[in-house]
Amino acid sequence: MSLFSRIFGSNDDSKRQEYVHYVLYEAKGKYCLKKMKKTILMFPDRINTNAHAEAKTQHVFTKKFRSLLEFWSYITKSKKWYLEYQADTIEHIEKYIETLAPLIAKETNELRRNMEFSKSDNFIIAQWDNLLFRYKDKSELVLQESKKLKTFCANCKNERRGFSQRYPKSICHECSSKVTDKNGRSIEFFNSEALGSGCQGCYSGTNQKEKYELNVCYIDGKEFVAEEARFGGIVINLKEEL
Ligand SMILES: [Zn+2]
Repeated sequence: MSLFSRIFGSNDDSKRQEYVHYVLYEAKGKYCLKKMKKTILMFPDRINTNAHAEAKTQHVFTKKFRSLLEFWSYITKSKKWYLEYQADTIEHIEKYIETLAPLIAKETNELRRNMEFSKSDNFIIAQWDNLLFRYKDKSELVLQESKKLKTFCANCKNERRGFSQRYPKSICHECSSKVTDKNGRSIEFFNSEALGSGCQGCYSGTNQKEKYELNVCYIDGKEFVAEEARFGGIVINLKEEL
């Protein structure tokens, strides 16, 4: 399922779906990346028959590399390379995880430092980090690289303590104390309900009496959004550009 998990470029999703997947393998001392495209054509008028769908697999290309470093440089060439080369669409990538682990950690750290990805991109980038978590028990090297994954504060850009895969654009503790309303008046957010749920803003120094009813907040004119964190507490994230 996961190898064919990516749908793109279809004109009419109900009738035609295209999935891309890759295979990475070694042959004659070279590393080869084979690109395959699977097209599924659906015939809604034949839905009650065995012939309501037809699948066709097509070989798109096979690229050859002298090293895994060369392979990695090739797939990470474009700015949003992870949209084309998703970890879960490259069959046998795990065979090469020890060589790739340091490259993956370095690359995804760089993406998180730059923060030029959307929320949905983040899930795709996370597939690459998950390879390190998935294989960390198999190799000390992969374990060490998985510990190098980093997230950065979306305001001051300092490295955060711990790695937050879920909130790669959140702000650090110090910056949380700098959030204000639109006019620059200091506000804070807290869980409004028991067990760390709910998210309520209030003006600082009012004993939580003067409420601030929005989730949008500001630091030096930059917009952030406060929300209840998944496992309790509050998280303040950089506002997503629409
Ligand atoms: Zn900060």
